[in-house]
Amino acid sequence: MSDVTHYAVRDGIAVISMSNPPVNGLSNALRAGLMAALAKAAADAAVKAAVIIGSDKFFSGGADIREFNKPREKPDLPDVNDAQDAMQKPLVAAIGGFALGGGLELALACHYRVAAPKSQLGLPEVKLGILPGSGGTQRLPRVIPMAEAVRMMTTGAFVGAEKAKELGLVDEVVQGNLLEATLVFAKSVIGKPLKRIRDNKAKLDGDPKAFFAKVREQVAKESKGYPAPLEIVACAEAAATLPFDEGRKEERDRFARLVTGPESKSLRHAFFAERQTSKIPDVPEDTPLRAVKSAAVIGAGTMGGGIAMSFANVGIPVTLIDVTQDAVERGISKIKSNYAATVSKGRLKQDEMDRRVSLIKKSIQLIDIKDADIIVEAVFERMDVKQETFKKLDAVAKPGAILATNTSTLDVDQIAAATQRPQDVIGTHFFSPANVMRLLEVVRGKHTDKGVLATTMKLGKTLKKVPVVYGECDGFIGNGMLEKYGQQSLFLLDEGASPQQVDAALAKFGMAMGPFTMYDMAGNDIGWEIRKRRYQERPDFVYSKIADRICEQGRFGQKTGKGFYKYEAGNRKPIADDEVQKILDAYRSEIKVKPRQISDEEIVQRLIYALVNEGANILDEGIALRASDIDMVYLTGYGFPPYRGGPMFYADSVGLAQVLSAINTFQKGYKGDQWKPAPLLVKLAKEGRKFND
Ligand code: NAD
Repeated sequence: MSDVTHYAVRDGIAVISMSNPPVNGLSNALRAGLMAALAKAAADAAVKAAVIIGSDKFFSGGADIREFNKPREKPDLPDVNDAQDAMQKPLVAAIGGFALGGGLELALACHYRVAAPKSQLGLPEVKLGILPGSGGTQRLPRVIPMAEAVRMMTTGAFVGAEKAKELGLVDEVVQGNLLEATLVFAKSVIGKPLKRIRDNKAKLDGDPKAFFAKVREQVAKESKGYPAPLEIVACAEAAATLPFDEGRKEERDRFARLVTGPESKSLRHAFFAERQTSKIPDVPEDTPLRAVKSAAVIGAGTMGGGIAMSFANVGIPVTLIDVTQDAVERGISKIKSNYAATVSKGRLKQDEMDRRVSLIKKSIQLIDIKDADIIVEAVFERMDVKQETFKKLDAVAKPGAILATNTSTLDVDQIAAATQRPQDVIGTHFFSPANVMRLLEVVRGKHTDKGVLATTMKLGKTLKKVPVVYGECDGFIGNGMLEKYGQQSLFLLDEGASPQQVDAALAKFGMAMGPFTMYDMAGNDIGWEIRKRRYQERPDFVYSKIADRICEQGRFGQKTGKGFYKYEAGNRKPIADDEVQKILDAYRSEIKVKPRQISDEEIVQRLIYALVNEGANILDEGIALRASDIDMVYLTGYGFPPYRGGPMFYADSVGLAQVLSAINTFQKGYKGDQWKPAPLLVKLAKEGRKFND
């Protein structure tokens, strides 16, 4: 038939098999193969019914997203669905594993669906900023209750086979061999009247107007400014109020608008960016990996506890070490209270919590790490403490164990030099809270073995993180860029903005939180320590001293009840504080700056373009492998809005020439070389190119 579809007839039933690994993506070849197979089954008088089947793991993962950026090739999925609709013989989808997006739409255009018990069905298009564009929004609410259909489509949530059966989405859940069981089912429906979902009425009782007004209000609240969920609601309403073909037209038009819109482009960029991060040019995919079956974490503080949880969460036993019994007990009880909070919210079962806690062993003897395959150090951020720890680790860790450091600022090579096995040392920079945040910055030392790097990247994925690798620079990718962002945020205060204006402008842009809320949360004393170091190391780096003035008043942020804002006891909500205004006024007088009105647009540009400019330098220096890795770092570790695709992608969509021109304007008015345009930005802007070409 074709390389990706196979056709056979068994006992008068056509078996159309899809074989397009790894996920049975509905590529052009697969769609053409399906069309041909359907035509053959329709034309053969000896064929009384047909079955479409995929692999055990994937009925079909849906459309090939790469094709969204190209003109549609024929036949497209709606053409295949039309051929299914025209079929005069029972057509049965045999669903093993996942039926997602276009894959589920293919199944919905069959007369019947039979599923293996472990199958998962869903329309996750919303996660890429689009909607099911091949009849999904019209067929799903005609086969399952409207409220459930809207929920599935606006959240992208999957349903398992049993739930699908309960909802009416599948006709039968079968045990044993899926094809054999489906053939039996197909035989049983030969001769019965054909049931097309498109001929059903939408499953909605009561007045559609009232129902959709309520749904719209709720979805608007949850969709945080993303357009796709509300467009899906509009399509669902069309399913309830219009004939099928008119509803399909609505769906097509809305899909076309979304797929070319900025939100979907950004989300698709992020989707691919995430899959790129583990590709390292000089580390072949078949690099032999080391086994990681057990772990140890040194330091049971804020980070060590979260890192230990990350291992336990995926079933890897872990030994948590600290220097005193008290410290290790404190660490364990924090872990337990974190898990208990998740249990009380209903997001974790008690027995699962118990299982995870039982995987975490505590100890104050370093010798207890001797069997661990990986040891992650999370002790105090001081080179002497780190080197001492690594020296001891070297003495007790088993040969071949990976020795990882969670340092945020220190030189991994210097830490590695304390051991006899620098090839086994690597940086694994988790983000706080380590059990929640997805970003894992992996720092490759000069001597890090390729197998250690490849194993750490794989482990990052096992831990359900997004591992991003790079060579070393002070402050790493994320924090290196953040320093420039921070520098601008303080200058904005000097010049006349208030913390609340800056934070509001950034929140409106879509950042999870503005810089001053973030500083107050992290603790202003931490930044103060770094700046004090910087004043010595980089006297050329111009800083506003306004944050120092805030710290000098003991305003360290949430933990002291006041920082750039004030806080009521037990409440993390930032409240504007007149005292801060007084400190600002005094500082402006001290540096003889007359405050001016600053627009939100300028605030956003100065902060975001500071990230972009430094990102370009980092890329140019080869510290980041690709622009999309920088985007991933900001999307998963720094609260950058996914619908803007990351700072580098955002700059690409604004246009690099325009970004450069704004930077040139800033350069004229400001001190030092803080706005020196990155050479790579200048070059790409001149050539009319993008960071993410
Ligand atoms: P923390 O002060 O909360 O915890 C450090 C723990 O290490 C303490 O419990 C301490 O008793 C223990 N410790 C110190 N010396 C030890 C030794 N020789 N052997 C065993 N245990 C020892 O610190 P933290 O915030 O968890 O930071 C730990 C590391 O993670 C630092 O390198 C830090 O830079 C890095 N980091 C922190 C964050 C963050 O947001 N806190 C984020 C990323 C990375």
